[in-house]
Amino acid sequence: MEIDWDNLGFSYIKTPFRYVSRWKDGQWDEGTLSEDNTITLHEGSSALHYGQQCFEGMKAYRRKDGGINLFRPDQNSQRLNKSAERLLMPAISEEKFIDAVKQVVKANEAFVPPYESGGTLYLRPLLIGVGEGIGVKAAPEYIFTIFCTPVGAYFKGGLTPTNFIVSEYDRAAPHGTGAAKVGGNYAASLLPGNEAHKKNFSDCIYLDPATHTKIEEVGSANFFGITKDGKFITPYSPSILPSITKYSLLYIAKERLGLEAEESDVRLDELDKFAEAGACGTAAVISPIGGIQNNDEFHVFFSETEVGPVTQKLYKELTGIQFGDVEAPEGWIVKVN
Ligand SMILES: *Cc1c(COP(=O)(O)O)cnc(C)c1O
Repeated sequence: MEIDWDNLGFSYIKTPFRYVSRWKDGQWDEGTLSEDNTITLHEGSSALHYGQQCFEGMKAYRRKDGGINLFRPDQNSQRLNKSAERLLMPAISEEKFIDAVKQVVKANEAFVPPYESGGTLYLRPLLIGVGEGIGVKAAPEYIFTIFCTPVGAYFKGGLTPTNFIVSEYDRAAPHGTGAAKVGGNYAASLLPGNEAHKKNFSDCIYLDPATHTKIEEVGSANFFGITKDGKFITPYSPSILPSITKYSLLYIAKERLGLEAEESDVRLDELDKFAEAGACGTAAVISPIGGIQNNDEFHVFFSETEVGPVTQKLYKELTGIQFGDVEAPEGWIVKVN
């Protein structure tokens, strides 16, 4: 199959191999690579009825020298286990997780986009509860799989700000599953996301579910802002999904750009204090936020068309580290080859 590397979007392209491992009677099997991109499930599987499933999103990056980097896969492993624990699913050791990721990348190496294209190989680890059942309880068996698909650079030809709208819906409850990467949060976000798209916004902004006064998430990405006096601020809340990109940016802002950087509340009535704002995550990398619509008010940050200088520097440093052009902090890069 011929792939037009420079015009990849974010859609499923079948790659030859995926990793599949099964858990039964208290243990994981060895796991194998499979060419079958379908899964046959028992009709009573808890993943289908009660949403007992969680997932991860990560990327493999082609370096200039032709090798391939993974970015902080230990963090994905730890977060998958936290999500699994919240939904009463079995853990997967970090060793097994990273070994599986490497197997999938190596087996599908021809599908890792070239360095220059800006594309990456997106990896989707998935853990689902399966097997016979009907009552509300944890599944008797589990499947852990990782498949991959090549994806394009989110923004071709540089970063472009987009606009967002504050949603009246919540994606998660105050002490619910917001911090777990589970499908249920996403099912709850489909309708609000659709309403935002219909009004020509990129996605919606979710507020803290208890008081609806503070920003929590930007669609399926985390929020960050740069204050007018040059501080990097990103909200903290137990219902926000802890983004690995966000924690990496907190570190980069502080240690590489010399900014003050902290997790603190981002109140809707204090947006004026920000000079720049953005959304961050593995898929979106960094997406500059042009403006935010909140009821009748439209708040513009840096500009609706231009990217702010700090956002630009953060993007350059982060992607430089990921693609191996900039020296990485200790332990951030795991080479596949
Ligand atoms: C996965 C995810 C993110 C981004 O996390 P990264 O680790 O940076 O990819 C942000 N918000 C939600 C709701 C997510 O599911």
